[in-house]
Amino acid sequence: MQSILIIGGGAAGLMAAYELSKHKYPITILEAKKRLGGRIHTITDNSFSQPIEAGAEFIHGDLPLTISLLKKAGIPYHVVNDNMFQLEKGKLKKQKEFSDHRNKVMKEMEDLKEDTPLKDFLNTYFNDAQYEGLRQSIKNFAGGFDLADISKASTKALYREWSHEMGKQYRINGGITVRQMCLIIYDDYMQHGQKEKAMDFVNKALPPALLKRLNNLDNPQVARQLEFGRKIIAAYKTLDLDYINFHWYEPVKARTKVASSNSEFNPEIFALVVDYLKTTTGKPVLTNEFGVLNSSPQLVKGVLQAARDAKLSYAIFYSADGGGEGKAVALQNATGDLRENGIAFRDFIKQQQSH
Ligand SMILES: Cc1cc2nc3c(=O)[nH]c(=O)nc-3n(C[C@H](O)[C@H](O)[C@H](O)COP(=O)(O)OP(=O)(O)OC[C@H]3O[C@@H](n4cnc5c(N)ncnc54)[C@H](O)[C@@H]3O)c2cc1C
Repeated sequence: MQSILIIGGGAAGLMAAYELSKHKYPITILEAKKRLGGRIHTITDNSFSQPIEAGAEFIHGDLPLTISLLKKAGIPYHVVNDNMFQLEKGKLKKQKEFSDHRNKVMKEMEDLKEDTPLKDFLNTYFNDAQYEGLRQSIKNFAGGFDLADISKASTKALYREWSHEMGKQYRINGGITVRQMCLIIYDDYMQHGQKEKAMDFVNKALPPALLKRLNNLDNPQVARQLEFGRKIIAAYKTLDLDYINFHWYEPVKARTKVASSNSEFNPEIFALVVDYLKTTTGKPVLTNEFGVLNSSPQLVKGVLQAARDAKLSYAIFYSADGGGEGKAVALQNATGDLRENGIAFRDFIKQQQSH
């Protein structure tokens, strides 16, 4: 049988290996670096509170191949609506040159009759002094993201690339999700013959629509989430990690579009999840993203108390509006003023500090 040698273990090499291995060819990947991933490079260094992406981070648009791979692997992702900031001479600056003129740039690129290198295009259509920031920003974008030498790169090709990239943006969720966590605990009880405990747990943690799906653990979506969650827990146990991170939103029953918004917060579930992570992995637990799904002051106080009682090594509250039911609710409104849940948050922290 023919064997195949792939040079380079970046996204392209790994994808080629994945496709070819379906045809049962023996495959070898030769990678020059000590790690796979190429220009996708996540740094999980203790000096940072969150994983840092030194390379690719976003899914630019509704890309069928990428999205289908995520679905196949049961890896969740979310829409990103955030602003881009740049650190320049020690100051954070909102990146706006390209976004302010984006429509004009894209229109000129689209209308271009004859293809030219991007550098010539910018010098012809955006030569004016007012566009100096824009020119620099486009050069950085083309050079950084597309690795394009702008004195050679085709304006038309970049136009095609950027038209895909400028739609919806997604980011892959980090770590284990609320739903996966609940499924693993349910499954664990079941595997140990503790059906009553399993049912009691899911009745408190899952919304009715998801409970229905649990009758059928062969449901491909449930099976995928369970499989992914089990793999993560197995990796957490064996990897040389200082902490186990998880994300959590309360009320946990409302973490879905089909939830009823009047679900209650139950501190018992939060405590059980933290305890499960600690005992199954033998490592300390932290959350770098926990938050609330409604603006109730009681809810935020309850969640903070639960995080405190669980003796988490760190707990970082996520305060941003996700928009809509089953999404995160910020502690502050758009002008920066504290909402009633934000006031409750501040008071809780003050009270802890005074103890
Ligand atoms: C800062 C930055 C941010 C980015 N952000 C995004 C983003 O948000 N979204 C997005 O979609 N894309 C983004 N990209 C682009 C994306 O990372 C790349 O398009 C993609 O990772 C390229 O994959 P690749 O396999 O083609 O090449 P690479 O990732 O470059 O992989 C090539 C691999 O081959 C190895 N190699 C090379 N020569 C040899 C040799 N002779 N022998 C053995 N091994 C060799 C290299 O070490 C490397 O591991 C970003 C890129 C950068 C740099």
